[in-house]
Amino acid sequence: ATATTSGPIQMRTADLTTISPSERSKLLQRPVLRSAEMIAKVKPIIDQVRSQGDAAIKELTAKFDKAQLDQVVLRAPFAQEQMVIPENVKDAVDRAYKNIYAFHAAQAEKETLVVETMPGVTCSRFARPIARVGLYVPGGTAILPSTALMLGIPAQVAGCREIVLAVPPRPDGSVSPEVLYCAHLVGATTVLKAGGAQAIAAMAYGTESVPKVDKIFGPGNQWVTAAKMAVQNDTDALVSIDMPAGPSEVLVVSDATGIPSFVAADLLSQAEHGIDSQVVLVTVNVTADHLAAIEREVDAQANALPRVDIVRQSVAKSLIVKTTSVEEALAFSNDYAPEHLILHLENAPDAVKLVENAGSVFVGAWSPESCGDYASGTNHTLPTNGYARQFSGVNTASYQKHITSQQVTQEGLKDLGPIVVTLAECEGLEAHANAVRVRLNHSKA
Ligand code: NAD
Repeated sequence: ATATTSGPIQMRTADLTTISPSERSKLLQRPVLRSAEMIAKVKPIIDQVRSQGDAAIKELTAKFDKAQLDQVVLRAPFAQEQMVIPENVKDAVDRAYKNIYAFHAAQAEKETLVVETMPGVTCSRFARPIARVGLYVPGGTAILPSTALMLGIPAQVAGCREIVLAVPPRPDGSVSPEVLYCAHLVGATTVLKAGGAQAIAAMAYGTESVPKVDKIFGPGNQWVTAAKMAVQNDTDALVSIDMPAGPSEVLVVSDATGIPSFVAADLLSQAEHGIDSQVVLVTVNVTADHLAAIEREVDAQANALPRVDIVRQSVAKSLIVKTTSVEEALAFSNDYAPEHLILHLENAPDAVKLVENAGSVFVGAWSPESCGDYASGTNHTLPTNGYARQFSGVNTASYQKHITSQQVTQEGLKDLGPIVVTLAECEGLEAHANAVRVRLNHSKA
């Protein structure tokens, strides 16, 4: 709220060596997500889609996206003429696809895990794809073909049978050709031309033309996020989601070797996402002159950006935290648990050992977050809002479930059986004990 429309574009500063523990914990806070309030707001939209299906999607798309739809879905194979994009963009998408595919294919578990826990007692674990997945590709204010790749490639690698990709249509009712080309590359079976809560509801419950899915992935605005949370909590939908979502974040750690123009550019690449973006710079033994050079760069580079108005508001809420050691800096970062962590440190690879909580780490001066956002191979759908403490970013395993199995031999049961009988009796579950006893008695007979 401190944002103005003129004056220098400046971050707030705090010094970890002088602040109190309660001031330190305030620095770790994120904006409050009013999820209960938003879930109540999306409920009528979800109910309308459940009761009226395709007709509701058409009505809500006309209302919120100003687009008239004849058909709410496109089915593969998609028409070539709807995927015509500039040659340089196609080349870039193809190169990014290759890198992201390679990294996610390497994550696929092909081998069954087998452990003989006792002689004749074999326990196994194997992965199977989630059959039907829904991918939400935001499209309200920008087109995001990169998100189509990031959500679609691991689904393709895992072998999901049905891949539904939802994206808000353009005002003429068509899908952006860049996004449709990515849908084609990842093997999407259906493209749903809808956004917001109505798209999430259609994928969660299914409609006449939208297949119901088992798990929904992807970022989006507060309508999308609230709808994902609502359908996840409805046992009728029987659907899960990738992770809770909040505004995007970056935490940059820089020592005196950090190049001010690089550090500033990395902060701004996050700040331009939206006015809620969280941007934190943690300095390690940086002189006042060096810090002033970074701040000058932030101001100069920000003023040259087309999205300067967004950046002005997000930078005003951003934070510089001064520390005196890499350990202290990383301890702060671990407590913050950033979505993206960038290390501008003399010995950045060594500092990775200190990372406990982060969605994805960018190591050294030549690894901007943008590379991971688009094309290096890692996924850009990552936990925000401090959820990096317990969630992983989207990866191939997100599109699989792991099934365990066991096979016990007649000999194996002789050793294992009495243990099970004792524990079942201890819990008072006689039928459980009996299932073993009848077999042991049969063996003796
Ligand atoms: P969006 O696709 O998330 O939302 C657009 C839809 O919102 C519309 O189709 C409409 O149905 C719905 N909507 C808008 N106003 C509404 C209203 N008043 N009532 C009901 N429904 C309404 O696109 P967006 O709004 O541009 O937001 C994109 C979001 O995705 C941003 O928050 C951005 O930060 C986020 N994002 C995150 C990542 C990531 O990986 N973290 C990547 C890309 C985008």
